[in-house]
Amino acid sequence: MSDDHDDSPIAARVRELEAILEEKGLLDAQELDRALEAWTHRASPANGFRVVARAWVDDGFRARLLQDANAALPEIGLSMGGGLQPQQLHVVENTERVHNVIVCTLCSCYPIALLGPSPTWYKSPAYRSKVVSHPREVLAQFGLTLPETTEIQVWDANAESRYLVLPRRPENTEHLTEDELTKMVTRNGLIGTAAV
Ligand code: FE
Repeated sequence: MSDDHDDSPIAARVRELEAILEEKGLLDAQELDRALEAWTHRASPANGFRVVARAWVDDGFRARLLQDANAALPEIGLSMGGGLQPQQLHVVENTERVHNVIVCTLCSCYPIALLGPSPTWYKSPAYRSKVVSHPREVLAQFGLTLPETTEIQVWDANAESRYLVLPRRPENTEHLTEDELTKMVTRNGLIGTAAV
């Protein structure tokens, strides 16, 4: 994954190991490419939309998701799998009092399996530095103005921990089906740079 810790020591070790296994004929590089391609093909924000819609309609799932997201995801046929190392997903829930936003200040860590490839701005030094020191201003640039009474919590992702925002369910959506709710969620909502 080009935007996912390519330069970390562990990624370098994995590349070395890969080369040795290939040399010894124990690993077929094409097979590995096919597996990775299949994974990236499945990695899409549509997965994140499904997580949110299910959490909105199913309180039990929501509770399990907030407690241990990796354990809850298989309930809807999803997982954090496919990466080079295990990643713990933390789902952080927006409430009237707290709004969550995610960043990777170090590089570009992102829950790719659930959100697809990250947008360019997520990887930009401007976003990564400013969202921590001036979150309210950054969110306003995205068109999201929060009441002064709403606390903004910024979560810094890393190689082991990834974050996904659970937006608040919009009002007057009680009549909508889970499928219809899925269509209300946006990728930025899952990052925290949009309300939903
Ligand atoms: Fe990172």
